[in-house]
Amino acid sequence: MKFYNSARAAFEALGLEFPPELAEVESRFPVYVNDYYLKLIDPENWRSDPVARQALPDPAELVDDSSSTDPLAEEAQMPVPRLIHRFADRAVLLATGRCAMRCRFCFRKRTWTSGTELEDISDAELEAACACLRRTPAIREVLISGGDPLMLPFERFRRIVDAVAAVDSIEIIRIATRVPAVWPQRIDEALCDYLRRIPGLWVATHFNHPRELTSEARAACARLVSSGIPVINQTVLLKGVNDDAATLEQLFRSLVAMRVKPHYLFHVDPVRGVRHFATGIEKGLEILRAFRPRLSSLAVPTFAIDLPEGGGKVALQPDYSAGPGCYWDIHGEKAIPYQTSLHNKTR
Ligand code: SF4
Repeated sequence: MKFYNSARAAFEALGLEFPPELAEVESRFPVYVNDYYLKLIDPENWRSDPVARQALPDPAELVDDSSSTDPLAEEAQMPVPRLIHRFADRAVLLATGRCAMRCRFCFRKRTWTSGTELEDISDAELEAACACLRRTPAIREVLISGGDPLMLPFERFRRIVDAVAAVDSIEIIRIATRVPAVWPQRIDEALCDYLRRIPGLWVATHFNHPRELTSEARAACARLVSSGIPVINQTVLLKGVNDDAATLEQLFRSLVAMRVKPHYLFHVDPVRGVRHFATGIEKGLEILRAFRPRLSSLAVPTFAIDLPEGGGKVALQPDYSAGPGCYWDIHGEKAIPYQTSLHNKTR
């Protein structure tokens, strides 16, 4: 796979002239993208192309200089370096800063802003994180994230997963990865053969647009699924990329058919350098309302926001209440009474 670590090289590969205003953007937020993902872009319409918007820099990234780089307070919720512990029963392990692509909307942009790149976890950090897990048996699930853990050399990745899996109280390991969407060829039989042997292991993919569901991406997910590994997907609701019900319906329908469960649809976090992707909460609720009469519950993810200051994920639902004891039908056209107890019924 050929990788490009400058916007100029990426534009050249697309056969496009490099817009000079992007030089300043990439000096703050570097560019990293590969041949495979660039091929999904329509070069003629790159400014509005939903795939290009995820991979190519935009001057809008520099407009906001006041938002926090870490509004979810991840750094403040690390009992030891690399381990984020926010919810009682689970923790996030930041295994590496590597990614197969620098997604322009990334909520962990702070870990790859120029001059602050996160390194791979060291042996000492891994041991300290595992010691913390052993001391905290309430943590039953570890989400191995980054960066993208599947970008680590296989032996290093295996060492990290084995170390976490060896902690007695850990029942579930979730591998959070965008590799199936941006470098699907990397999901090979050897990797699947290893993953399927880890008890309680799930893979959480990250597809945002139906155009990312190429034959290669489908084959990668099929390799995971047919190895017996449960696969879920998280999507970020992105302005100008997927912020309409028809696009997301196509994405979620296809994922379910691939036996990949749409798990979360996240609103963009208020992170510096990504806020231009925010759609507003109402847009997400409007999409959920549109799904209600059309889409199987298997295909509908939980719409959630991650609250600032470490407040955690909050699931949001459209409100169907139409007054006391009365609810709107799924089309939002008719208010229908619903009585919950016999006592309320007329005698
Ligand atoms: S792969 Fe994930 S961690 Fe890496 S830049 Fe994309 S969204 Fe961020």
